[in-house]
Amino acid sequence: MKSPDFDYVRPDSLAEVFEMLKNHDGRAQLLAGGQSLMAIMNLRMADPELLIDINGLPGMRSIEKQGDRIRIGALVTHRELLESPVVAECVPLLSQAVPYVAHVAIRNKGTIGGSLALADPAAEYPAVAQALGATIIAASPAGERRIQAADYFLGFYQTALQPEEVLLAVEFPVAAPGQHFVFCELARRHGDFAMVGLAAAITLSGASVQAASFAFCAVAGYPQLASTAMAGMVGKKLDSAQILAAQEALETDLTPNGDLQANAATKIHLARVLLGRALEQMRVQP
Ligand SMILES: Cc1cc2nc3c(=O)[nH]c(=O)nc-3n(C[C@H](O)[C@H](O)[C@H](O)COP(=O)(O)OP(=O)(O)OC[C@H]3O[C@@H](n4cnc5c(N)ncnc54)[C@H](O)[C@@H]3O)c2cc1C
Repeated sequence: MKSPDFDYVRPDSLAEVFEMLKNHDGRAQLLAGGQSLMAIMNLRMADPELLIDINGLPGMRSIEKQGDRIRIGALVTHRELLESPVVAECVPLLSQAVPYVAHVAIRNKGTIGGSLALADPAAEYPAVAQALGATIIAASPAGERRIQAADYFLGFYQTALQPEEVLLAVEFPVAAPGQHFVFCELARRHGDFAMVGLAAAITLSGASVQAASFAFCAVAGYPQLASTAMAGMVGKKLDSAQILAAQEALETDLTPNGDLQANAATKIHLARVLLGRALEQMRVQP
């Protein structure tokens, strides 16, 4: 199936984008990599009258270390993330997640901003952003605002981004000594959307856990933090008993939606498997 007809523009300034969004009042949509939007349009699940291609906007393609933060422009592609030594060194959890995103052709075009704006419940980057407490930076005619990940992901394909806003960048904290990260997921085939995915970060002091953050994708409408499992680990030794306790806490933390891939009980089981694997891996990391 082909998409309905639409007009296309490629402005080179944010001011023009804001003007076009205002003039088309809900009937225009931003186009980044097009790897989700064009498919949605071809399926006739969206029919904007105007596509505003934001690939001509300046300043949205860089990856910059700014003190203890890394700022990644919204137009940075999945492939650029994968190939970035700065991301590998400073945000290893994000680096680990990229190979799970789709396939090479899609990774060549799709962008981190598009993924965070769409907020597919099974997508990897929203879970990474949630686990690391990332900050989303959005611009509108009123100026820029910074939105914490915890306040950004609101529900099924729902974010705090307003219709008049453009997602400019996302900031992640730079990994600190003692932090360990694992991204893992289960999918029917590599590159498919996750049945369940996990972005996990812990801070160890010796064998003792100082902080833990576990965000799951594909279990709820938005990336869900396993709060009880996280809190229960702090101050404890990362041993087999503690790993089992964290897995058991998922029964309280997660209330999965069954979907076409797996029912709720299977998702809880898969989440337990992933958390067990991640924590075992962190236990033996140097
Ligand atoms: C076969 C297939 C498999 C896939 N598998 C996965 C997968 O396993 N994991 C995964 O995470 N993704 C997957 N994707 C989606 C892919 O990662 C997309 O690249 C991503 O979801 C959207 O990025 P994009 O740049 O292509 O955005 P687009 O498709 O251009 O836009 C998506 C939406 O975001 C909005 N938008 C884009 N950029 C901005 C911005 N800067 N500010 C505000 N709004 C914006 C658009 O208006 C649109 O509503 C898959 C896609 C396909 C086709």
